[in-house]
Amino acid sequence: MKKHNFYAGPSIMSQYTIRNTADAVLDFANTGLSILEVSHRSKEFQAVMDEAQALVKELLEVPEGYHVLFLGGGASLQFAMVPFNLLRTKAAYLDTGVWAHKAIKEAKLFGEVDVVASSEDRNYNYIPRDFVVPGDADYFHYTTNNTIYGTEIRKDPDVPVRLVADMSSDIFSRPVDVSKYDIIYAGAQKNLAPAGATLIIVREDCLGKMERPIPTMLNYKTHTAKGSMFNTPPVLPIFSALQTLKYYKEMGGIRELERRDLAKAAKLYEAIDSSRIFEATVPSHDDRSIMNVCFVMKPEYAALEKDFMEFAASKGIVGIKGHRSVGGFRASLYNALPMESVDVLVQAMKEFQDKH
Ligand SMILES: *Cc1c(COP(=O)(O)O)cnc(C)c1O
Repeated sequence: MKKHNFYAGPSIMSQYTIRNTADAVLDFANTGLSILEVSHRSKEFQAVMDEAQALVKELLEVPEGYHVLFLGGGASLQFAMVPFNLLRTKAAYLDTGVWAHKAIKEAKLFGEVDVVASSEDRNYNYIPRDFVVPGDADYFHYTTNNTIYGTEIRKDPDVPVRLVADMSSDIFSRPVDVSKYDIIYAGAQKNLAPAGATLIIVREDCLGKMERPIPTMLNYKTHTAKGSMFNTPPVLPIFSALQTLKYYKEMGGIRELERRDLAKAAKLYEAIDSSRIFEATVPSHDDRSIMNVCFVMKPEYAALEKDFMEFAASKGIVGIKGHRSVGGFRASLYNALPMESVDVLVQAMKEFQDKH
């Protein structure tokens, strides 16, 4: 049976990425060797790295003065690397959920953290709007898309200080004004590649100004000085990332990806909002994520949750169990997910509703 993959991460990848990666595992760039066994210093892999960095710059229209890195450690390592490199005395953070919270925890190891606003009071089901970023903060950090709760900030904010964003789960789903940011980071496993690489876009002029000693591997400058090849990079995920980036370009670039993502999300939210038995967990349409759609059974139907999971599974739908801190269901609609899969889910919801 055809599977419809709604996992939140690691998550669906394009068939283009999967097939080209499989081919390269057998024979990489006509070297007669597997991508798993070539030197990262070989000219063939250097070409992969160069092209992947160039395509990130092209697709996201990254201006001059920025570096593109692919490092290990996941987005979670960036929670510590960002303050290690940028936090002198005080940083401002927006608390919109578990990932933001984890970033705040690490920042507190390096200085004062001003949490400018939080949506914890309603289990993070909205985006706080009225907050002020203090002008004396070293930077402001926020999470663009809250993977667990299904909320998203789709407008690049204007702040009086350096801007840092965790874009792990919505990068490449909308145009970004990179010039507003000093650091953007994203774990690869949502919209880019298999787990193991983290994409980082960093502005050159925010680096090298910290008095505190920074361990070599945690210093962005170490990596920007060596073109992201200071040590052995995650070769296979970077190869796959390049395939995804080529596929994105082929599809028409970021605006086209956004158009498709908006259409998928609109269809699913419409099905939820018009349903008798399901309801969305994020009330405000402005705050709803187009990548992770969270919904539950209305209280009077709550007992049917398990039945719906089984019914959905019988239709080939996988990965829609909600995160334990929200419950219910979460359908992740990353770039590689076709509209057809949304249609299958919507149809399953309707059929299930008709039976109850
Ligand atoms: C998945 C996720 C992370 C964690 O990424 P790791 O690569 O597992 O460290 C951090 N932030 C957001 C927004 C995420 O969705």
